[in-house]
Amino acid sequence: MRERCAPEPSALATRRLLALDQAHVWHPYGSMPATEEPFLVESARGTRLRFAEPVEGAHEVVDGMSSWWAAVHGYAHPALDAAVREQVARVSHVMFGGLTNAPAIRLATRLVELTPDPLRHVFLCDSGSVCVEVAIKMAIQYWWSLGRGRKHRLMTWRGGYHGDTFHPMSVCDPDGGMHHLWSGLLGRQVFADIPPCGFDTPVDPTYVAHLEALLAHHGPDLAAVIVEPVVQGAGGMRFHNPGYLQVLRELTREHDILLIFDEIATGFGRTGALFAAEHAGVSPDIMCLGKALTGGYLSLAAALCTSEIAQGISQGAMPVLAHGPTFMGNPLACAVANASVELLCGRDWAADVARIEKRLLAGLSPATRLPGVADVRVLGAIGVVQLDHPVDVAVATRAAIRSGVWLRPFRDLIYTMPPFVADDADIDAIARAIHAAARVA
Ligand SMILES: *Cc1c(COP(=O)(O)O)cnc(C)c1O
Repeated sequence: MRERCAPEPSALATRRLLALDQAHVWHPYGSMPATEEPFLVESARGTRLRFAEPVEGAHEVVDGMSSWWAAVHGYAHPALDAAVREQVARVSHVMFGGLTNAPAIRLATRLVELTPDPLRHVFLCDSGSVCVEVAIKMAIQYWWSLGRGRKHRLMTWRGGYHGDTFHPMSVCDPDGGMHHLWSGLLGRQVFADIPPCGFDTPVDPTYVAHLEALLAHHGPDLAAVIVEPVVQGAGGMRFHNPGYLQVLRELTREHDILLIFDEIATGFGRTGALFAAEHAGVSPDIMCLGKALTGGYLSLAAALCTSEIAQGISQGAMPVLAHGPTFMGNPLACAVANASVELLCGRDWAADVARIEKRLLAGLSPATRLPGVADVRVLGAIGVVQLDHPVDVAVATRAAIRSGVWLRPFRDLIYTMPPFVADDADIDAIARAIHAAARVA
């Protein structure tokens, strides 16, 4: 009873809150009870996160992560705050079955305008993983509708990440995604080798031949090839030559296979192009968007497809796409997404990303000389320092906070994708913090 009558959480001391967090709350990829104590964020504004109490002497830190690719405009942006407020005053949510709403219609229309031409239809859902589920379902149902149900497997390359629900998991890197834990439960997909690393590294004909051989062999069983274009994010922060995407486009056409680009991390300018597919000048049959879609305010994702796929499904024996989440087309999320997209398109985001790229490159390159550093790479507003050993995350995180920066390393990677509004001083602070973290990790 005492617990239930407890005062509002905001009135509880930080210590007490953290103890409750540890007792009751799962964190990403966490154990229970937690082995790691998270830091309590009290507020955030611009590029700064404010802790409830100082950590390592720092009350405020520069955000080097954009809350996992999402907060491209920084925090508490007046235009995004206003969009949420205005929409709350009208309607926060209303079901999408039989009803529609202006923010969702506007957003879908805008996404069709912004993405490559053949993408014309939009499925709005609640998270990236669900979006990948929908994209895969679209592909499989398309072939099933055409009477070609044998085509239901997927092909991808190793080193990828597509989300944590089961079908997305089946196309994540088999080692990174710990497929051995789930053998017998995951769809058995076709894996090509990891694409050769380096945006500027010339296309390797041996790797192209490898893709060719796999697609020729498995083509009759494949519904789609799904990849993250140009940047493999949570699977290892690796960049590849966009030429491989052109190769995949040609080969999937040749073998009657759909091509899905998962742009959930790369979309909305992060790699220096509005969508990473533009580096290759090719368009997929299905594209997944998420993360930065709402500027980091709310969870929302979109699967876009061509008219050919939409018609294929809608003229099949089951003429509907069999998916419909409760919070589909959520007006609040769509309203803030509209504001975020307009904010992005209304500013010279490409100049910001180019400036950040140059500054990150200058700041991080000297890290190649640090002991234990295996590689340093930068593309767009993404900077990566790869070590030759696993990072001690707790130690590295605290070292970064002592430098006044929030970083969240994983595996052997200390990396940043700062908000596009980060200024030169922010980027320099982030680069210094990455050095500091690499030295102690
Ligand atoms: C984050 C991510 C997902 C999953 O999105 P969630 O919103 O976390 O479910 C899928 N694909 C890629 C490329 C991602 O980076």
